[in-house]
Amino acid sequence: MTKQSYNDALRGYAHPVHQRDDFVCVYCGLDGKASLSNWLHLSEDHLLPRGHSNRDDMEYRVTSCRFCNEAHNRMVFDVEGKSPEELIDQKKPFVLQRRNEYKEFWVEQVQPGKEFEKSGKNQE
Ligand SMILES: [Zn+2]
Repeated sequence: MTKQSYNDALRGYAHPVHQRDDFVCVYCGLDGKASLSNWLHLSEDHLLPRGHSNRDDMEYRVTSCRFCNEAHNRMVFDVEGKSPEELIDQKKPFVLQRRNEYKEFWVEQVQPGKEFEKSGKNQE
């Protein structure tokens, strides 16, 4: 038996975090166990900003899908004295609002069948 070690996030350093969180994005609930493509979208989110002394502690790293992770990239939050749960609750409304904005765009611009409906060419 060969023990493999991976230095990427999904199989390596983020895997214990994903296992603890049952492979579910703490913001939107995307389930990495449900499909390979879901799992491939998982990442880990640091709840504390760069330079913070506890940033790399396991409890301040959580499972996040890539979208949710990037959705709050440029936001600055007040983190002092907050528990991991409080930090998640603080970010969540912003992340979910961003998701909704993207969902509206998707429905308008991406969703399959949109052109059929617009042009009235229903081929059934
Ligand atoms: Zn997510």
